[in-house]
Amino acid sequence: LGGTFDPVHYGHLRAAVEVRERLGLGEVRMLPSANPPHRAEPAASAEHRFEMLQRATSCQDFLVPDDCEMRRTGPSWMVDTLSAFREQSPHASLVLIIGQDAANGLHRWHRWECLFALAHIAVMRRPGAASDYHGELQEQMRKRRVDDPASLTRSPAGSVIPVEITQLEISSTDIREKAEAGRSLLYLTPLPVIEYIRQHGLYAC
Ligand code: ATP
Ligand code: MG
Repeated sequence: LGGTFDPVHYGHLRAAVEVRERLGLGEVRMLPSANPPHRAEPAASAEHRFEMLQRATSCQDFLVPDDCEMRRTGPSWMVDTLSAFREQSPHASLVLIIGQDAANGLHRWHRWECLFALAHIAVMRRPGAASDYHGELQEQMRKRRVDDPASLTRSPAGSVIPVEITQLEISSTDIREKAEAGRSLLYLTPLPVIEYIRQHGLYAC
């Protein structure tokens, strides 16, 4: 599960738990993007974002913050991250987990066609983002679609599975705006994350 995690919130965490259960995944690695190429620079440093991820997941050993994109220089291309995983685990079934808003823009990711050779893709439904694919992406999503999670174990990569999850209308953008306005963040993200934001004065104007 890649993301900016600026900051991590219950939308990410609950989604990770439900997708893992639904697809029978061993673990979910949460990969903060050090230099996200497709969006504005994150408000918090990669180190702060990783620290918040660690605090949010410390009670769960199957949610694993992974700083591999932070240890590389240059843009954080997902295709490079998955290639590294594939080298470590040549035959494992790998699943790239993304929300519907991210999936709709997949054709703008660096070498996006290569992603299908490296992993399956699980697309999580997200409030405010209907499925909206065009052109070659639409064709790839259509022909690769499966609905039975068991089929992901039959090959290491190449299928696309939509996953229904509890719809939580929480976003990092909203959390940053609330923090800046001095409003409460309670129950949007775990308490240790809220405390970390306050201690370090993150997202304050
Ligand atoms: P921002 O508002 O800064 O873009 P965000 O809340 O969208 O933050 P990201 O770090 O951009 O969080 O998201 C990482 C991944 O998690 C993306 O694939 C995104 O679609 C997915 N995601 C984020 N929030 C939710 C949510 N509430 N429900 C389902 N998926 C989510
Ligand atoms: Mg986002």
